[in-house]
Amino acid sequence: MKYTIATVPGDGIGPDVVKVAVAALEAVAKRFSFELSFVEAPMGGAAIDEFGEPLPASSLEACRGSDAVLLGAVGGPKWDNLAGSERPEAGLLAIRAGLGVYANLRPALMFPQLAGACPLKPSLVEGGLDILVVRELTGGIYFGDRGRSADGLSAWDTERYSKQEIERLLEVGFEAAAKRKNRLCVVDKANVLESSRLWRETAKAMGPRWPGIELSFMYVDNAAMQLVKNPRQFDVIATSNMFGDILSDEASMVTGSIGMLASASVGGTRPDGREGPGLYEPIHGSAPDIAGQDKANPLATVLSVALLLRHSLKLEQAARAVEAAVSAVLDAGFRCADIASGMIGEKLVGTVAMGEAVVKAIAEAGK
Ligand code: NAD
Repeated sequence: MKYTIATVPGDGIGPDVVKVAVAALEAVAKRFSFELSFVEAPMGGAAIDEFGEPLPASSLEACRGSDAVLLGAVGGPKWDNLAGSERPEAGLLAIRAGLGVYANLRPALMFPQLAGACPLKPSLVEGGLDILVVRELTGGIYFGDRGRSADGLSAWDTERYSKQEIERLLEVGFEAAAKRKNRLCVVDKANVLESSRLWRETAKAMGPRWPGIELSFMYVDNAAMQLVKNPRQFDVIATSNMFGDILSDEASMVTGSIGMLASASVGGTRPDGREGPGLYEPIHGSAPDIAGQDKANPLATVLSVALLLRHSLKLEQAARAVEAAVSAVLDAGFRCADIASGMIGEKLVGTVAMGEAVVKAIAEAGK
């Protein structure tokens, strides 16, 4: 098989971490005998400098025509004074909308080797942590009717969901749970919000189609508490745009480092009805403070490659090989500065050396 990957390096540390992730992809392609071709799509500040806009039409076309999109990060002080719609970050919203990716998957995965970086008590996270937050990305209060009264003294934002929007998101949640530990927790505020009651009704109606999945419900305030009280109770959490925005940040931060966290945005369709390309990116930004210094941890982007292999290319074995390689380099003691704890046996490395270690681990595990 041959796959086309659109790479969007972006700004700051984006190009450095994408370069490492591409090398990891090439290594895994070699090991599992599939072919890759890459097309680079400028976006963010880099595209503003070259083309005068954050997401040129040619970049979106290249992404739409690919099998999957691998994104670094965009933004930086150079473009901070531009108006909102002209800023690099506007490219992010445009690419998500342009690809129609309505489901954001954010694994909060804590490698046991990095347990020291977790802010929770060790007893709560013994053996690691593995939660997947499935967040609705293109609807709800962030896109609903909003406004201000004529006197400016009151304002409103509207949470509105259609059954169809809820169903398609929950479908992703059920499917993800079926590939994991078969538990799906729908988080809402159904004791207060009518839109949440529609989420709950819809999930209950879908439940019988997934007899192997244990479906549960939790109010969002309780979920925020349970994530720090007993995070291991969760497998997959499915929720609305705003609740997911907040809970996915909370869930990922309990794992310790921003340099380790990947994300996938999926669900788009092509004009002929086939599944569209997913968008894969680390959750961190362009980190201008460490850009160009060989200090960025590339593992979040490497783990985004694992998601890309799993969700867009449907190459589960290859995805696991990438995750195993990350685990192996951590076992071997390799640490970028953001995940170093100063313990004996750790080898402090930069972006490039971490990338080389990952590539070597992928290749060696295949021998
Ligand atoms: P950031 O995530 O870029 O950086 C926050 C802190 O984490 C910094 O100290 C940085 O050095 C560190 N950090 C981030 N990624 C790291 C990595 N891989 N390895 C080691 N350390 C890492 O967030 P910020 O400083 O708020 O934003 C910087 C720029 O990035 C802004 O222009 C912002 O708009 C943009 N941004 C882009 C995205 C995106 O492209 N998806 C997301 C968030 C922020």
